Amino acid sequence: MSTFLPFALPDIGEDEINEVVNSLRSGWLTTGPKTKQFEEDFADFLGGNVEAIAVNSATAGLHLALEAIGIGPGDEVITTPYTFTSTAEVIRYLGAHPVFVDIDQNTFNIDASKVESYVTERTKAIIPVHVGGLACDMDKILAVAKKHNIKVVEDAAHALPTKYKGKLIGTLDSDITVYSFYATKTIATGEGGMIVTRNKDIAKRCRVMRLHGISRDVFDRYTSTKPAWHYQIIAPGFKYNLTDVASSIGIHQLKKAWAFHKKRQEIANRYDDAFKDLPVILPPHANEGDVHSWHLYVIRLTDGAKMERNDFIQKMADKGIGCSVHYIPLHMHPYWRDTYKLQPEQFPNATEKYNDIVSLPIYTKMTDEDIERVIKAVKEVLAGC
Ligand SMILES: *Cc1c(COP(=O)(O)O)cnc(C)c1O
Repeated sequence: MSTFLPFALPDIGEDEINEVVNSLRSGWLTTGPKTKQFEEDFADFLGGNVEAIAVNSATAGLHLALEAIGIGPGDEVITTPYTFTSTAEVIRYLGAHPVFVDIDQNTFNIDASKVESYVTERTKAIIPVHVGGLACDMDKILAVAKKHNIKVVEDAAHALPTKYKGKLIGTLDSDITVYSFYATKTIATGEGGMIVTRNKDIAKRCRVMRLHGISRDVFDRYTSTKPAWHYQIIAPGFKYNLTDVASSIGIHQLKKAWAFHKKRQEIANRYDDAFKDLPVILPPHANEGDVHSWHLYVIRLTDGAKMERNDFIQKMADKGIGCSVHYIPLHMHPYWRDTYKLQPEQFPNATEKYNDIVSLPIYTKMTDEDIERVIKAVKEVLAGC
């Protein structure tokens, strides 16, 4: 009897462990030199020319991003229902309202061709989410934003590394991009996130607001060799700074980002090949020359599967394999549904996809046998029909 294969696992090596130990021995537990290095490395990863601001989650990063671009009470922010609740909850933190636009019928991403019809006088920003690590149609989204003078904040929690028209997400013409290093993401620090921007004023505001609204940068305050007791509070900021312990992990995870991606791509290729004749719709792919991060591998059961999604997941669990569902669309959660009187008919694509999606395990710690086990289990479960 083999052990249970979890849906996701982080891939932490000796380099990460040694760096954490080094941080512990150094006495820098909270934000300090390792975090500064992680930020510099992250900016370099994206080719420089951006500022990277480390935070303790992507949720914190999205909140700071919206605060920095001036989102406030009564404003509207366009986003997708096909995401984790973080993307929309941060809009509510600031008293603004999410406006949900249905997803594209071929991808799981916001339907960029519909975005403009939702723009009103109150629309201040758009938050596209690169679902699973497949880039949104950013040219269309950026064009609408430019035309109506709206900001764009990319939720790139799944999108490291993702390329759109040959460019890494994080280097496009949006205002801010936010990454997550939550335990299950493509690079992981347990909890953690990164804000990326080319706008110096936005970067400055995010740095101030991530640590209580203190006017001096956190690094000056903690690492200055001069007496550093004096500071001034210029706003009621937040406690969103990333610890050096987490950054120690992040520094080494980032170095492996492309190697990790190669592994994920290999798993995706093997799944594609193994499942092509089964009654499932395979996940959409990136365009030629672009990169899908393969944070998620989402299949859709077709009518030919003659099986409910929930049964499929239960049968996989019976065979010792963890699956998941990305996502229960936000319009189906009580808070969002009731607050904004959302109906499934407003989001036909998201609603329909939700019923037959299954996320299969795809992570770098999977061995060849693990991958074969998943393939065999999927075939057996669907063979029964
Ligand atoms: C994971 C995730 C977040 C939140 O990330 P945290 O770092 O856990 O705050 C936001 N958006 C999406 C799409 C996510 O998957």
